[in-house]
Parts: sequence; structure tokens; C-alpha cells
Amino acid sequence: MTAGDARTADLATRLEQVRGRLDAATAAAGRPPGDVDLLVVTKFFPAGDVQRLIALGETQFGESREPEASRKVAALRGAADLDARFASGEIAVDMIGSVQTKKAKTVARWARSVHSVDRDKLAGRLGAEARTALETGDRQAPLGVFLQVSLDGDISRGGVVEAELAALAERVAGDDALRLRGLMTIAPLDGEPERWMAEMARIREGFLAQHPEAVELSAGMSGDLESAVAHGSTCVRVGTAIMGPRPILSQ
Ligand SMILES: *Cc1c(COP(=O)(O)O)cnc(C)c1O
Repeated sequence: MTAGDARTADLATRLEQVRGRLDAATAAAGRPPGDVDLLVVTKFFPAGDVQRLIALGETQFGESREPEASRKVAALRGAADLDARFASGEIAVDMIGSVQTKKAKTVARWARSVHSVDRDKLAGRLGAEARTALETGDRQAPLGVFLQVSLDGDISRGGVVEAELAALAERVAGDDALRLRGLMTIAPLDGEPERWMAEMARIREGFLAQHPEAVELSAGMSGDLESAVAHGSTCVRVGTAIMGPRPILSQ
């Protein structure tokens, strides 16, 4: 793989389009340039694509499945020039998909943050595993936690409902192996992102009154990043619009 290959050119074109959309949305919201982080979602795509994106200047990635993510991070860190950049935290991978409690151990080793924490049991397990990883030197900093909020109450798709958010936040804030970063949401796909992102902003206001340090909001994907940025997102998670259609499953 070289920086000049056709796939790299393809990624560069779409990355530029998405960066353009993000800059425009940030400006339209009256926010300063660079106010919103871009997490490039590389699930289903091989480690080679992540290397191409790093060559294009990207440093933050989102993965959603284990053990695909563990394997990909290990492959990337196997490249000598990249390992130091991961170790220093300059390049980071976040877990954005739902996490089975039994997968907490591996996730707590490679993830900078988990965006999908939505229940007490998972928070407890992630805290215990992050503590172990800190003790063994497998991680250098507490595990970042975003609490995933369910906006429509359909918790089968993940997320905690507003009424249970405060208790879960207390649980995470009280664990020093975890660091409460903020909230995350996936807007229901009913074509009304504006309405859902406004609802998210309302919930966040109450949350911030209790946890003023947890300022992050992970919201917005390929289809709705503009609405999310307008309503205060600090981190958009973009897959398809950068990576293109999903490839066949291969590593
Ligand atoms: C796949 C995924 C994304 C990216 O979605 P696109 O529509 O492909 O941009 C964002 N967030 C989560 C939680 C995902 O699983």
C-alpha cells in the first residue's frame, strides 16, 4: 500500500467532502473552526484503510465490533512507526458500538473511550477492567466514557432513558479508572434528525448542570452531522460518507 494508490485517492476525495461539510456546519452554528472532532468510523474496513487515513492526516477512529477492533488495533500497532503514536495518544481508537459485558476486558485495553455505555453492569465491568489495564501498563489513562442516551425509549437499540441517566452518570463519575466525558446518541432513523438533536440538547443541559466537566457530545453520522453540530455535538462519527459502501468482510 502506498499513499499514491487508487484507494487512498478515493478516501482523500470523500474525506475532503466530509471535512467541508463539517467546517460549513461548524461555521453555520457560529462555532469556531475545529470545534467538532471527526471520528472516522472504520468498522468492516481493513487496517490498511486506517493506515491510508493516517497518511491523510486523520488520527481519531471509531470501531464498533469485537474482536474485529482488537485485531485491527494490534495490526496497526505492529507497524513500528505507528506504535509510538498510539502509545503517546496521538492516534486513538474509540469503541462506538454496543459492548457485551464479557467483551469489556479487551475493549478496556485498546479503546481510548467507549461511546456506548448504557447500563450499570457494563460501567462496573469496564471500570474494573480499565483499573487492571492501568495497573499492568496496558493503558496510560483512565478509560473515557460517553453515556449513550436513548431518545425514543427503544432501548433494544442501546442507550439509557433520560430518567435513568443521572444514576448511571454518578456510577461512572465515582470510578477513578473511568473518566466521564459526556453523552452520546444515535438519532432514530425516521427522517427527523432536527427534532431528535434538539431533544438531545435539552437532555444535555440538565446533565451538564450535574456534571459540568463532562462537556463532550458524540452525535451526528454521515446523514445527520449538520443537525448534530447545530445542536452542540463535539464529535461526529462518520463512516459511509468517507469509507464508501461496506466491503466484503476480510481483514
Ligand atoms: C456505523 C456507525 C456510525 C457511522 O455511521 P454512518 O452512517 O456510516 O456514518 C456512527 N455511529 C455508530 C454507533 C455506528 O455504529
